[in-house]
Amino acid sequence: MQPNGVAAAADYRELGLFIEGAWTQGTASEGEAVINPATEEALGYLPHASAADLDRAASAAVRAFEIWSRTTPLERKRILNKAANLLRERSSAIAVWVTLEQGKPLAEAKGEILAAADIFEWYGDECVRLYGRIVPSRMPGANQMVIREPIGPVAGFCPWNFPALTPARKIAGALAAGCTLVIKAAEETPATCCALVDACVDAGVPAGVLNLVFGKPAEVSAFLIPHPGIRKISFTGSIPVGKELAKLAADGVKRCTLELGGHAPVLVFDDTEVEPAVQALLAAKFRNAGQVCVSPSRFYVQRGSYATFVEAFTEGAKALRVGDGRAADTQMGPMANERRLAAMEGFVADARERGLKITTGGSRIGNRGYFWKPTVIADATDECRVMREEPFGPVVPITPFDTVEEGIARANSLPFGLAAYAFTGVSKRAQALREGVRTGMLGINHLGISLAEVPFGGVKESGYGSEGGTEGLESYLDTKHVSQLD
Ligand code: NAD
Repeated sequence: MQPNGVAAAADYRELGLFIEGAWTQGTASEGEAVINPATEEALGYLPHASAADLDRAASAAVRAFEIWSRTTPLERKRILNKAANLLRERSSAIAVWVTLEQGKPLAEAKGEILAAADIFEWYGDECVRLYGRIVPSRMPGANQMVIREPIGPVAGFCPWNFPALTPARKIAGALAAGCTLVIKAAEETPATCCALVDACVDAGVPAGVLNLVFGKPAEVSAFLIPHPGIRKISFTGSIPVGKELAKLAADGVKRCTLELGGHAPVLVFDDTEVEPAVQALLAAKFRNAGQVCVSPSRFYVQRGSYATFVEAFTEGAKALRVGDGRAADTQMGPMANERRLAAMEGFVADARERGLKITTGGSRIGNRGYFWKPTVIADATDECRVMREEPFGPVVPITPFDTVEEGIARANSLPFGLAAYAFTGVSKRAQALREGVRTGMLGINHLGISLAEVPFGGVKESGYGSEGGTEGLESYLDTKHVSQLD
């Protein structure tokens, strides 16, 4: 039994803070219950960090930086690769916690843990290639060296939609570069990040290098970002929160990586086969119940294929089996929290008021668990809310378009620029899209853009900086120029 009388569910992990190499319940008087979105039952009790706990975590990260930043890249690689292997070994057990606290189907949850393991492995492998360079000198006898150094202790803030993947990008990126970290994972989905910490500790990450805290998000960020020991901020979440955290970081002239929301357009051209595009988009759109920042979320279909596409996509959406993620036949789980249900209701109410055609779905399923029917809105106008605001859920607006130029202009019409997609069989069109769409990531004829080895990040209000790829490692490094006359 936990302090507030909430018993941890039998197959759920006991929760805690991890500070300076030890699990603790912290010293705050408050905490919160973690809710299973499929049943609305409490899974366990999550302690919050007090200001003293946060200070202890940041100070531990500062002290550990002296040791970790001098640990050889080869040793860091060995530890990160071991953590990757431990995650793989434990993936089935951790996946159950992901599904319990976040809602996604077990197969998706396991896939997420394996992808997180790939991230640990990739960053581990890459950190032995943290090369500097020698710049030929204009002065005889001088050596101009460009040296890459870890930036310092990092504060990371993560959302609830990918409880393994997002913390993995921050933990593995920071640790590979030689940085230490205080991470605030999402309070809604804490056990998964506890499991990542377990893997790191069991792999040999020394005390203080990785610290995990929870609390009231705004209070934690208001404490950690200005903390004198913290040198870099990495945040994944919504645009309004990202703007606030960037202001806090600017006050201390601290580097920031911001992975914010998106509203990914997908352009389906007449020159492509409709059925494979529909199948690929059904899988991508309803994955994680649409709560994915790179989810295809504004569908533009060229007029010649439009009617066929809407019909096939509607049929596919209608056939999806929605249920508890633990059931073997579930294809889509519940929304992760009650706020998302309310948001879906808002999008649908707006579409109804405008007289738009809802070809399937449009309402909640039952009244226990945050289940929402896969929903398709045809002939969506550019003005309706779901075409302008990120849906972050299983609601799909579809609209026709005519020319490449029109498609690109509408794709670029919002202040977002995270991901974009297109299906076309004509390489000249693909080239026009590559050149014309303002986005951080573009998937042409497939949607697999999020992988350990490639940069993941946005432009415009979707944020700046990248996670993943060599760019992800760069974001944890400072550049020092040393000019030495021998
Ligand atoms: P929200 O803005 O309240 O929170 C988003 C995340 O940021 C949460 O995990 C929250 O704990 C954290 N957060 C909130 N305030 C914070 C603060 N002051 N300091 C540090 N962290 C803070 O929104 P929400 O209702 O949880 O999620 C809905 C919206 O968030 C979505 O519409 C989507 O746009 C966005 N979102 C984006 C991503 C992404 O991957 N970019 C992930 C999750 C949510």
